Amino acid sequence: MKLTVLGCWAPYPRVSGACSGYLLQDNGCNLLIDAGNGILSKMLQHINIEDLDAVFLSHLHPDHIMDIYSLRHAIEAANREGRMNRLVPLYMPTGPAEDFQRIKDFTKAFQIHIIDEIPDPREITMAGLKARFVPAKHNLPAYSISIEGSKRFIFSGDTAFNEGLIELAIGADLLLCEASGLEQDADYLKEKHLTARQAGQVAAAAGAKRLMITHFYPEYVLSKLQRQAEEGFGKTTELAREGATIVI
Ligand SMILES: [Zn+2]
Ligand SMILES: [Zn+2]
Repeated sequence: MKLTVLGCWAPYPRVSGACSGYLLQDNGCNLLIDAGNGILSKMLQHINIEDLDAVFLSHLHPDHIMDIYSLRHAIEAANREGRMNRLVPLYMPTGPAEDFQRIKDFTKAFQIHIIDEIPDPREITMAGLKARFVPAKHNLPAYSISIEGSKRFIFSGDTAFNEGLIELAIGADLLLCEASGLEQDADYLKEKHLTARQAGQVAAAAGAKRLMITHFYPEYVLSKLQRQAEEGFGKTTELAREGATIVI
């Protein structure tokens, strides 16, 4: 199983960067998780559009979905030109209604699946991979996602501290976890996001083998976030680095 970080910034990118987006590759399956602004051109450095098997949107905040609007055109063009002859499955929550309605209508590119409507425990199987969606604690309907194939990978999405994420991350080979701020900003983030220290604490409570933090506000010095995550985890913590591919 391989993970490529396409974008790691929120809610706007640093120079030449991109917002939330990750390419997960396993069992011959190419899965895009989140489609924040700037990630499409980064993804095309790694795979052709025809090789994209599915897209998961953790939630519909702009920094996680803006490139779905250009991805849609890339898929439609590939189908029009005969390079591709299928729709790409797209999994997403239903809110906010305005964004959902707009994306739901991209039916010439995507086969839409609504995560909210998948019966508990919200599990799907796809090309030998098993994915599970667990409600996150955010200011919009949002999900944390686990993907099991040759390894077990968990993505927190955007979320405040919650037991559901810890439970989902038990025994993770890699937990990719949002770390939206330093401890000093905990008040600003509360009920919506994790501090870096909390991301570490989630990983420790779940017994995750590896922790990579992401969803960085551009104003922060990343090594400070890393240090606080390591204090929470009690182990070495990796920083998401754009363009980097790691083997899980
Ligand atoms: Zn975000
Ligand atoms: Zn968000």
